[in-house]
Amino acid sequence: LTDRSQNPTHTWPRLYVDSPLGAGTVLTLARDQAHYLVHVLRAKLETPIRLFNGQDGDWAAEIAHISKQSVELRALRLLCPQTAEPDVWLCCAPLKKQHFDDTLTKATELGVSRIIPILTERTQIREVNTARCRLLIKEAAEQAERLTLPQIDEALPLARLLAAWPSDRTLFLCAEAGSACPINEALTNSRLDYKAKHALFVGPEGGFSVAERDAVLKREEAVAVRLGPRILRADTAALAALACWQASCGDWPSTKGPVK
Ligand code: SAH
Repeated sequence: LTDRSQNPTHTWPRLYVDSPLGAGTVLTLARDQAHYLVHVLRAKLETPIRLFNGQDGDWAAEIAHISKQSVELRALRLLCPQTAEPDVWLCCAPLKKQHFDDTLTKATELGVSRIIPILTERTQIREVNTARCRLLIKEAAEQAERLTLPQIDEALPLARLLAAWPSDRTLFLCAEAGSACPINEALTNSRLDYKAKHALFVGPEGGFSVAERDAVLKREEAVAVRLGPRILRADTAALAALACWQASCGDWPSTKGPVK
């Protein structure tokens, strides 16, 4: 584990940029990021910065130029090479108010690779502001020292998602009722099929309907899983399932610490 107290870099502002990164690369920040860096993070010319773009690893950078109109950065050296990250999808119903925001940011911290908002019979929130969700996710990924951003899809009806479901991806339906396998057992069984990819399905505040449960479970790649004997709120269930997944199938068993 890298001793974070010895590494000043984790105190540096860290930004996701949508441009290539290499030694000497100069890039101009978009207005909103420039504003965030200068006025929110109060970065000055001599402030060291960290940059990542989801492909080229984590880079130390300097502020080459600050003006009213724009901020220019120069990438200097690679701090941490890009490494493969676990591939787990979270397919969950949008939730009311803060609960969905919390689910998005915490699922990002928990290493989710893709978030698919699903509209189910009992979903109460039918409109998702995906652009706003992307901003929440980006900030969570910057703070969590991730090397990639999770992808988030436009919300879509459960039936449409199932119609296009990839057959190589196991679908763990989190079910608080009916027959289900304890999640750690289901994950251990599935991990034996090392090539399997995984997705976690969590319902809305009112749960999945019986028809939805049947529609999902009739697929051969679907497994119903239990998250213990208590009824969890949907946001709790999503995060608990992701934590179980990372501990069992993801990158928590490794001792590698955060990026240097
Ligand atoms: N239908 C229940 C609550 C649903 S909780 C009721 O009205 O009381 C919202 C979602 O969280 C569920 O759809 C399910 O995906 C998940 N969930 C909650 N508790 C769970 C548990 N103990 N095991 C598995 N999934 C659970």
